[in-house]
Amino acid sequence: MKTRGLAVLKASAEFTNFEFDRRELRPNDISLDISYAGICHSDIHQVREEWGPAIFPMVPGHEIVGTVTALGSTVKNFTVGETVGVGVFVDSCRKCDSCKKGLQNYCLEGMTGTYNGLERDGKTVAMGGYSNKFVIDADYAVHVPSHLDQSGVAPLLCAGITLYSPLKNWKAGPGMKVGVMGLGGLGHMGVKFAHAMGADVTVFSHSPSKEADALAMGADHFVSTKDISNLKPHHKQFDLILNTVSARLDINDYLELLKLDGTLVVIGLPGEPYAVQPGVLLNGRRSMAGSMIGGMPELQEMIDFCGKHNIVSDVEVIKADYVDAAYNRTVSSDVKYRFVIDAATI
Ligand code: NAP
Ligand code: ZN
Ligand code: ZN
Repeated sequence: MKTRGLAVLKASAEFTNFEFDRRELRPNDISLDISYAGICHSDIHQVREEWGPAIFPMVPGHEIVGTVTALGSTVKNFTVGETVGVGVFVDSCRKCDSCKKGLQNYCLEGMTGTYNGLERDGKTVAMGGYSNKFVIDADYAVHVPSHLDQSGVAPLLCAGITLYSPLKNWKAGPGMKVGVMGLGGLGHMGVKFAHAMGADVTVFSHSPSKEADALAMGADHFVSTKDISNLKPHHKQFDLILNTVSARLDINDYLELLKLDGTLVVIGLPGEPYAVQPGVLLNGRRSMAGSMIGGMPELQEMIDFCGKHNIVSDVEVIKADYVDAAYNRTVSSDVKYRFVIDAATI
């Protein structure tokens, strides 16, 4: 299937138009016309090889929303014309303990990434969502409620699930104090979800200009981390802190915010280790944990939650020729709060 995409031909290069073929439908596949693809900071890390060697040409994009155009012969649970979403992985082994539990994101053989990796045949390079068409096994696509704005839905497929999953796992709800570090694509979804779940939400941001937006999204408090001493009055107060910051920082400053038995969940992936002071963990029996996107059942649950609570991402829709500029703006934290590519312009 002839497909138009946006690719980088080598690490850190600018984007260029790129034509490639997607597979013809297998029995359990669906094809879609992509309407929007979100720009995740993980795309930038990979294009710039900040996580190690990558595969080029690379068509990034793992926040995909579109309309079903055709069904494979055995597909029963999707219909032509409905809106669907595709996220960070397109397949997994389907038989390990994690896959059997619906935690395909933690597949013991490794999930099959939407791009920058090989498909399960071990030879086809996966091409992502900065493109006009997609083919996906129906077991790895989700239904999207038709009343949600599609551009605002795209970021739910990574940013949304990545914050929803730890909030559910650590049981965010009324009476709980939740902190969100970094008000970017992921962080702003964390604020919306934690607020909808009834938690008391504090944003920790190094961009003081984002305060009004944070409060409008549902945050109860905003702490500017430009002056790190602003954290001191908040020590030992938080049950749960979600760290979405994409850059290196002193994690001990934030571990100090946890109360007895509190947990700081690492979500941002700066590509460098954190230096943890053991004494800070010991004092208060604090935990530091990690969380990576979410499995297929939870992805559908999150989208349904969004449908019920009318939650979408705050997006700036851009044309294909603006992606390089959008990358630079994202890296300088100048994004409100997710760039989304209008696939019709590719
Ligand atoms: P983003 O939109 O760029 O947001 C990151 C935010 O971090 C920025 O908006 C900024 O918020 C803050 N920040 C950036 N540089 C900073 C600095 N030097 N000091 C302090 N704060 C800084 O990125 P994103 O798409 O949300 O992704 C965030 C991270 O999560 C990335 O590393 C990405 O790879 C990772 N990620 C992980 C998963 C997972 O499954 N765990 C999934 C997707 C993405 P303020 O301006 O408010 O300070
Ligand atoms: Zn992502
Ligand atoms: Zn598996």
